[in-house]
Amino acid sequence: MWRSWFAKGPAAWRDDDGTPAPVLVPAALETPAETLVEIRAVSKVFGTGAGAVKALDDVSLAIKANAFFTLLGPSGCGKSTLLRMIAGFEHPSQGTIRLAGRDILADPPHRRPVNIVFQSYALFPHLSVARNVAFGLERLGHRGAAVAARVEAMLRLVRLEGFGARRPDPLSGGQQQRVALARALAPGPKLLLLDEPLSALDVKLRQDMRVELKRIQREAGITFVLVTHDQEEALSLSAEIAVMRAGRVLQTGTPGDIHGRPACRFVADFMGGNVLRGGTLGLAAPFAAVRPEDVDLRPEGGPGLAGHVIETTYLGARTTCLVGLDGGETIVADVSGPAAGLEPGRRVVCHVPPAAVVALDA
Ligand code: ADP
Ligand code: MG
Repeated sequence: MWRSWFAKGPAAWRDDDGTPAPVLVPAALETPAETLVEIRAVSKVFGTGAGAVKALDDVSLAIKANAFFTLLGPSGCGKSTLLRMIAGFEHPSQGTIRLAGRDILADPPHRRPVNIVFQSYALFPHLSVARNVAFGLERLGHRGAAVAARVEAMLRLVRLEGFGARRPDPLSGGQQQRVALARALAPGPKLLLLDEPLSALDVKLRQDMRVELKRIQREAGITFVLVTHDQEEALSLSAEIAVMRAGRVLQTGTPGDIHGRPACRFVADFMGGNVLRGGTLGLAAPFAAVRPEDVDLRPEGGPGLAGHVIETTYLGARTTCLVGLDGGETIVADVSGPAAGLEPGRRVVCHVPPAAVVALDA
């Protein structure tokens, strides 16, 4: 079924008038809110007995069609295991995975309408860029002008027109990553899985590639599932984020939800928020979270949480200020620009607007 675009014939994939071809929009997936992937009660145990590792623990997720979905969490929390399971390289110990309503667990990887891109681009060094991109198509038995047209369209999608005849090795890391993306998208998967695809790139390139990834997802019109441990990457790319820890999904929501309305202490802290005792901010809940950008530092004397500056860290556009509260807790406040007068030991008051406080039960 996922080869249906191919069945339409070469005319459907060419764009002879020079406008970008609408690439890879599977006909059955026109409703944006439709669930493409449904992961239900999935657990995975590696090994047996005393050496057993529970990599996934009762994970349930719904991933919408044509969306950018991100699995975010620290190293070892089970992100890659879940991604590999969707691709078919791992099998759950328990639970089901459905794609477009159909249980896919019995399907081997090559029968799933899914492709995967890794941090290591894994390009074939002895093949040209075009042959790399054509690889999946040729494995499906396609040949000739149809493949050439599709390769052209994919290279245009990743902005590597004219690179087809080159070998991948001399290309930059970002260009190689784009070849890998073109290769993965060429056979027309419904779902592209990306496992830390940007972590091998330096900071500037990583930021450029974020913009590119987002554009490519939009133009390809298919579902991307990204795995990352980078909060900023997740926030900047995703329509929806699932935060994982120790094999469990702790919270699923929009970037705004995850950042501004964390569901528990771990998510609040992992996203860079302050976690305090609820009582410190006058709440009945056991814990409370406040974003550093919502903490207003004022001179001693007014209402708020009194304390002293422990240290400041200059970050260019902002400075973070670590304050030791008189009650014994610490809180980080963002100050825009340089933090004049906030030398260590200085007495301050942290003003926190009530609307910026998130009550946490766990
Ligand atoms: P992440 O991608 O979030 O860093 P992984 O999914 O790679 O995490 O790993 C989750 C846990 O499962 C880790 O404790 C890891 O050591 C373990 N694990 C992953 N794959 C295997 C395997 N093939 N055999 C044994 N343990 C594994
Ligand atoms: Mg991983």
